[in-house]
Amino acid sequence: MATEALLIIDMSNDFVADDGSLTAGAAAQEIVPYIVNLAQVMHGQGQPVAICMDTHHVNDAHFAEWPPHNVAGSWGHELYGELQDWYRKVEDDAHVIYVEKASYNAFYGTNLAQALRRRGVDTVHITGVCTDICDFLTAAGAYDEGFQTVVHRRGCATFTGNHDVFIDQMAICFHAVIVD
Ligand SMILES: [Zn+2]
Repeated sequence: MATEALLIIDMSNDFVADDGSLTAGAAAQEIVPYIVNLAQVMHGQGQPVAICMDTHHVNDAHFAEWPPHNVAGSWGHELYGELQDWYRKVEDDAHVIYVEKASYNAFYGTNLAQALRRRGVDTVHITGVCTDICDFLTAAGAYDEGFQTVVHRRGCATFTGNHDVFIDQMAICFHAVIVD
């Protein structure tokens, strides 16, 4: 039975594309091939892959704090580039999970922990954006839910200068295994 799952966090057009409304830009675009490759490898091994996606509605209260982004059904909410191409091919697979999240932590207010446990998962691999926001807080959520975490330094990115600090902090706080 599968014991490891890949989490792909917030790799939407709004967070990754040049003209996304809250984009991490080139830093986020550079990690796409790494994540696509990891998704293909893990999916090929029969491991679950979870697309964890910030999801809002047009008049979301969250937009008092941030520019509008990831509105359900919009271009900005779709996965970016090659990730969307890959997802289209596998989206009906029982081991591919799509989780709509409303906050930073993909485990908060979602069925992600249940969906993973049902598939026998005890370890989650963290990739996506942003290292120091949703990746870090999802690692915290995974820790609280009792999952071992593996964090991919070349599979995460952020628009700030805090990338390496937060990757290292995941090892300190959550005993995450770092893949360099
Ligand atoms: Zn949001």
